[in-house]
Amino acid sequence: MNRCMVALIGLTLIGSPDLRGAADLSVRDADLNARQARPRPTLTVDADTRLLVVAPHPDDETLAAGGLMQKVRESGGRVHVVYLTDGDGYPEGVRVEDHIETPIARDYRGYGRRRRAEARAALNALKLGRYSYTFLSFPDGGLCLLTRQYWSDRRAAYRSPYTRLDRPPKAEILVPDIEYRGEDLTQELARIIADFEPTMILVPRREDQHPDHCAAWYFVADALGDVLRVRPDFKTDVLNYIVHFNSWPFEDEDDPHLPPPPGLRGGVSGWIEVPLTPTERRAKRDALQRYATQEHVMSWFLAGFARADEVFSRPAAPHVVLPARRNLCCD
Ligand SMILES: [Zn+2]
Repeated sequence: MNRCMVALIGLTLIGSPDLRGAADLSVRDADLNARQARPRPTLTVDADTRLLVVAPHPDDETLAAGGLMQKVRESGGRVHVVYLTDGDGYPEGVRVEDHIETPIARDYRGYGRRRRAEARAALNALKLGRYSYTFLSFPDGGLCLLTRQYWSDRRAAYRSPYTRLDRPPKAEILVPDIEYRGEDLTQELARIIADFEPTMILVPRREDQHPDHCAAWYFVADALGDVLRVRPDFKTDVLNYIVHFNSWPFEDEDDPHLPPPPGLRGGVSGWIEVPLTPTERRAKRDALQRYATQEHVMSWFLAGFARADEVFSRPAAPHVVLPARRNLCCD
């Protein structure tokens, strides 16, 4: 397949027409409505739900959807989490964890292994089963560059400035000869989508201010385009979550609910709210606490998501061109 071709993706978005009508509300109106009158729409899951959660780093899946994943499992549905990176490119985290002023590649790799172990512990705390995840081990902090500069084998693969790796470890490779290139990541995601056949895909919004999160959106959209070219009848419900947006979320001891980020519209659906039961909320908190490396550097941030609900939105059908011709997400 010619990866330089323009990929125009016509995703089938499943949603009720009344949800789409909410897109015209201004942010202020939407906030007022939520606070004063009608509740936000929510999501329905059942035994047929097959939820694929795309997490750029270990912890994103629980921050965004620790509650939703439990609901899918409780309904008899299936959950699969794909981690795009091991979260190993985090100098401050490594310094705090290992008490090393100038970490080297070995330290970053060790940090990534620790975060992967934490991810497994977190999923166990959510009781999602043993085989409900895949680690792709692409470069933390490098996904954005893979959408453009490091797209194909016309140039050398991207090399992580942290781990010094230019490809995932052998054990994590789904498609032969994978290296740190954009088209390789798209291929692996397309393979996962085709194999798991999710009825629902949860992926970061393109407006997420972390470059890896923003890039994750484009890679998933591109991979869906590949799947649809081979299987035009494939249908799935694409939902967005957001983790990084200015200084959101604020903790508010008087309000256990998680408000959507101020200044951001709720996509074509309006913001969708998933309320958590006290048991689900406790399990989500428990799962977040398994991320000890992150608790050590940003416990306040993690706590901001351990709330009484989770918020999502549906995107408009994406028209994605990868490799990108301009900077999509990089700082
Ligand atoms: Zn992340």
